[in-house]
Amino acid sequence: MDSRRRVPRTDALLADPRIALAEKRLGRSLAKAAITQAQAQARSGAIFPEEVADAAVALLPARACSLTPVINATGVVLHTNLGRAPLSEAARDAIWAVTGCTDLEFDLATGKRDRRGRSVMDALASAVPAAEAVHVVNNNAAALVLAATALAVGREIVISRGELVEIGDRFRVPDLLTSTGARLREVGTTNRTTADDYRAAIGPETAFVLKVHPSNFRVEGFTEQAGVEELTNLGVPVIDDIGSGLLQPHKLFPAEPDADSALRAGAALVTASGDKLLGGPQAGLLMGREAVVRQLVRHPLARALRVDKLTLAALEATLTGPASPTAQALATDTDALYRRADGISSSLRAAGIDARPVMSEGTVGGGGAPGVVLPSAGVSLPARLSTPLRCGERVRRGQCPAVVGRTDGGRLLLDLRAVLPEDDDVLCDAVIGAHRLDTHE
Ligand SMILES: *Cc1c(COP(=O)(O)O)cnc(C)c1O
Repeated sequence: MDSRRRVPRTDALLADPRIALAEKRLGRSLAKAAITQAQAQARSGAIFPEEVADAAVALLPARACSLTPVINATGVVLHTNLGRAPLSEAARDAIWAVTGCTDLEFDLATGKRDRRGRSVMDALASAVPAAEAVHVVNNNAAALVLAATALAVGREIVISRGELVEIGDRFRVPDLLTSTGARLREVGTTNRTTADDYRAAIGPETAFVLKVHPSNFRVEGFTEQAGVEELTNLGVPVIDDIGSGLLQPHKLFPAEPDADSALRAGAALVTASGDKLLGGPQAGLLMGREAVVRQLVRHPLARALRVDKLTLAALEATLTGPASPTAQALATDTDALYRRADGISSSLRAAGIDARPVMSEGTVGGGGAPGVVLPSAGVSLPARLSTPLRCGERVRRGQCPAVVGRTDGGRLLLDLRAVLPEDDDVLCDAVIGAHRLDTHE
């Protein structure tokens, strides 16, 4: 008998209450895709026709977006491939509140039009008192493009050869700047550039001097780079790309530049990312002198780089709300991390898993504090658990987040430096689930 004939039809499956409910949430095309896949399994003989409805239900995605929540157990606090900074509860809540219509460019008191994102700009300005004016664009790369376009097209940007940097994945600051039509005037050498080197290069063609923070590498030995302060009396504006987004000095990272200090030292404009050390959403922060910021804001390109309401909401909550997860992860002491690793390991051993707490080393990552080692601790597990933890059945069904760790001495290490304490239980549950999957296979 041909069992293929008995494969349930699509309309019958769409009427299954479980699938009908999911269709409301996911839409028809995702519901149908799961059905089609389950029917194909039955036709190929992998499952019985009676099992098609259950298989389709199991194949339904968790949500209408295939991006998967991840617990970052890599030990890299700002992991570029994992979406950099995780948002605080306050920022998530703020995003959720504005997903519908909101008073983005509207004054509820007067019923009239208002400046877009006024409250965010106010929050940023008060976090950086040395800034006369501020603006926010899509990311720091956009901030640099806007500055180069509005101030330097057809003219020269003077930059040190030691600061012609690649940020990551072929994103090179010099290429970005010249793509606008500005020219670069390189000065000094890879390891040494003095204020005199800049002075000799400045002329009528100069639009501004650009300082770029080498945020993902360190040059050691016979080195020298002129600081912002030394360059402010050369008669041209100094723009400082500080990268990381620290607004004020941070005691953990004395070598990391911050916006307020750079402006106090005389920079006309500072650019930074919102989703690095600041711990907020992807954004490019522009802070500086009133006249310079106004020139950028009024340039037509500013419209193409403007951020949406979700970003503005998350940024304001990051600036005004409680410490970001990034700040918390950086501030945690190693003893506390070890105690958590020990607790998780005991629970996992009780579930029959070969788990043990270990000391480890994490990093800041994501273009911040290069070379700084963050002593850390984590849970060492059998390496074979890494695949089910990353992409096992439970992850695919949205029953638990994916867990991404790192390989260490032939074992899987789940480093806790970037894992929030409130995620420990979820992490534990994910490991137990992955272990069950592993032992059943
Ligand atoms: C990260 C970084 C950038 C790019 O910032 P995005 O927000 O990723 O566009 C530019 N300059 C420096 C110095 C950086 O560290």
